[in-house]
Amino acid sequence: EPRQDDANYVLYAPALREQEDRLITLENELHQAMKENQFLLYFQPQQRLCDGAMIGAEALLRWQHPTRGVLSPNEFIHLAERTGLIVSIGEWVLTEACIQARQWQEQGHDMLISVNLSARQMQQADFVERVTTILARTGAPPHKVELELTESLLMTDLDRGHDMLCQLKALGLKLAIDDFGTGYSSLAYLKRLPMDTLKIDRRFVSSLPGDKQDGAIVRAILDLAEHLDLNVVAEGVETQAQHDWLKRAGCDVLQGYWYSRPLACSDWVRMVES
Ligand code: C2E
Ligand code: CA
Ligand code: CA
Ligand code: CA
Repeated sequence: EPRQDDANYVLYAPALREQEDRLITLENELHQAMKENQFLLYFQPQQRLCDGAMIGAEALLRWQHPTRGVLSPNEFIHLAERTGLIVSIGEWVLTEACIQARQWQEQGHDMLISVNLSARQMQQADFVERVTTILARTGAPPHKVELELTESLLMTDLDRGHDMLCQLKALGLKLAIDDFGTGYSSLAYLKRLPMDTLKIDRRFVSSLPGDKQDGAIVRAILDLAEHLDLNVVAEGVETQAQHDWLKRAGCDVLQGYWYSRPLACSDWVRMVES
């Protein structure tokens, strides 16, 4: 048996070290990226189902890496969270999103922009003050900016979370629960927290309309939202059949490849002006 351990060690140690090296490189590059402005936002349009209008967009972070092309959050957000870099990245994201909201308002587009928040950002003691400053500096209309929080983020410290959300609401911001249905939350908190929107996670949408169980779950969420007076956004809608099903079921808004992929700024301008 010790021999087996030795064998494992010989097999895995170099691979581990390589992985470790890659992480350290990535971490250094991430610091560099912040300094050199290598981040950008893509915007994924959202469609209102009753009339087909585009009513908003989610801001999605991208990293224009110097050699590896445009990277998705899955490739670096974890590390950004672990190193705490997500705090300054998140502040940049919120600022850019607010600038965009202000611009849309000036151009006469009635559009909501949604921004993802990370736990580390919310844990800052002065988070509400920081948001207040960003709103003031950018002149963004607060009621056109929605903050997306995950259930696990909400559940980590419910009392503090509750106070903070009430303060953010008082600023005029909108609040959404992201990836709804995937967390460990109880339904009681839905009543307690000042939310505006539920975003149904794509895993419940992807097998619609064929899957009876997912259909039942989505209907239950829509019913719950109706009675709690919350808006519902279905995420990850990829097909006409999913669109039709959701529209018939009374879902308010959809987001997904069927309507549009996340767009880089130049594509966005082309779409809005066409
Ligand atoms: P999310 O908040 O659930 O965002 C939706 C993700 O689903 C996006 O991935 C989007 O590109 C993808 N998506 C949209 N429509 C479809 C579809 O029809 N089919 C499929 N298969 N996927 C679709 P993306 O942009 O790679 O972002 C991944 C995650 O990274 C986000 O998930 C969010 O949790 C996180 N993230 C993105 N931007 C930020 C940010 O600025 N700050 C923080 N903290 N997290 C972010
Ligand atoms: Ca989101
Ligand atoms: Ca989501
Ligand atoms: Ca409603």
